[in-house]
Amino acid sequence: MKNLKGLLVTVLLLLSVGCQSIKQKEKLNIIVFLVDDMGWQDTSVPFWNERTPYNNVYQTPNMERLASAGMKFTQAYACAVCSPTRVSLMTGMNAAHHRVTNWTLRKDVQPVADDDKLAQPDWNVNGMSPDEGIPNTIYATPLPQLLKDAGYFTIHSGKAHLGAIGTPGSDPLNLGFDVNIAGHAAGAPGSYYGTESFGNDDPNRTTWAVPGLEKYHGKDIYLSEAITREAAHAMDSAVNNDQPFFLYMAHYAVHTPIQGDDRFVQKYLDQGLLPTEAKYASMVEGMDKSLGDIMDFLIEKQIEENTVILFMSDNGGLSAVARGGEKHTHNKPLSSGKGSAHEGGIREPMIVKWPGKVKPNSVTHDYLIIEDFFPSILEIASITDYQTVQPIDGVSFVPLLTHQNVSSSKDRPLFWHYPNRWGPLGPGIGASSTVRLGDWKLIYYHSDRSFELFNLRDDIGETRNRASDSREKLKELALVLTNYLKQVNAQMPLDKQTGQVVEYPSDLLD
Ligand code: CA
Repeated sequence: MKNLKGLLVTVLLLLSVGCQSIKQKEKLNIIVFLVDDMGWQDTSVPFWNERTPYNNVYQTPNMERLASAGMKFTQAYACAVCSPTRVSLMTGMNAAHHRVTNWTLRKDVQPVADDDKLAQPDWNVNGMSPDEGIPNTIYATPLPQLLKDAGYFTIHSGKAHLGAIGTPGSDPLNLGFDVNIAGHAAGAPGSYYGTESFGNDDPNRTTWAVPGLEKYHGKDIYLSEAITREAAHAMDSAVNNDQPFFLYMAHYAVHTPIQGDDRFVQKYLDQGLLPTEAKYASMVEGMDKSLGDIMDFLIEKQIEENTVILFMSDNGGLSAVARGGEKHTHNKPLSSGKGSAHEGGIREPMIVKWPGKVKPNSVTHDYLIIEDFFPSILEIASITDYQTVQPIDGVSFVPLLTHQNVSSSKDRPLFWHYPNRWGPLGPGIGASSTVRLGDWKLIYYHSDRSFELFNLRDDIGETRNRASDSREKLKELALVLTNYLKQVNAQMPLDKQTGQVVEYPSDLLD
């Protein structure tokens, strides 16, 4: 009898272990690997139809590894600056709709003052909020909350930049994350160096001091490495608890300050890069190492086959000269960079690996935009029956990944809306509204009501403004843009000279 009891216990134990492993494996783990300010060309993976000199400068072997196992998107779009992209990802809404149109930091304070010509509208300067009634926020059901409610262990690692200081949205733990590693209101680290306690040693810059990570303070470790190790600990606990996980691996890198990652910087100096360029390239490679470490972790834990990785950047490379700095990236053949409505500001390196579903080493030239991540991730997680307080603008790109119902994206318009001021100057930078439809893209500049119309198929560098020679196309796109802006009640700036709200684009054409 005693033996029988023992046998039963053993069988039950074995059964429960068996069930646990099925439980982990029956759901897909999902990793969003979001890089900050990484340009389309800051990688050894070519995203254009030919290799560029930049693809030979930057060394990202783990992105190459990811691309060889997954699908590369050559026309993936985000917004031109940080917070709008991040809020779109977390809410599924277009920036014109959620109204977090510029980057956020201090409660009720514009990050960049108005210029002489335009007064910025009353946009959602405090970012997103999981709670109703917080002034100047978009009240929304955050993506990680839906994943958590469906049984996912939700991990935030790195930069949040989703809500202003002192508002609920500034803390990832209020947005449905079970774990928050190093995320808060600020969109840049005080320092990437553990030896500088990631900015906590400077009493004059506490706003930018990276929270948490105390165990690495004073240590010789780069921020990208520290948040990767902590993310691995968190993933490990999910695996041990037999729970599927969602990891939002949102690197602070490669945003300013441009601080060299000493593990990699020398070889770029040896290549003849200028010091700032070499430091930047080393930050890119440090980020890439993080990607490789995470991929290795998945193999080690035998969860590679049921884990989806989505690689993306939140806006274009910073090609405008950073304050007091040297130019460190270019985005060419694209025009301009971060902050710009031109392709250099919004076209991102994107790769998706989904074992068994996505064809290895595949590529798509169909376009998509950042709010599409929201419904796509929920579809990947097989979460179909969910409720959100906000309407979802994004469209799932799962059919693109799996080649089901492949309808080209060419009939779908994409929209950007930036009724704000960024600061640095350059091509395509300034308050504007933009539509992409098929090969064409129209940018409407609020300040002087001018238009730029480009055919991206013929002119990826946006060098030839076709607004005057393609009047019908101009009018067609202006109407599509106007209708959308009206539909979502998009906020336009005020013209200080006329005292009037800036017109919608179609109102200027007849
Ligand atoms: Ca950014």
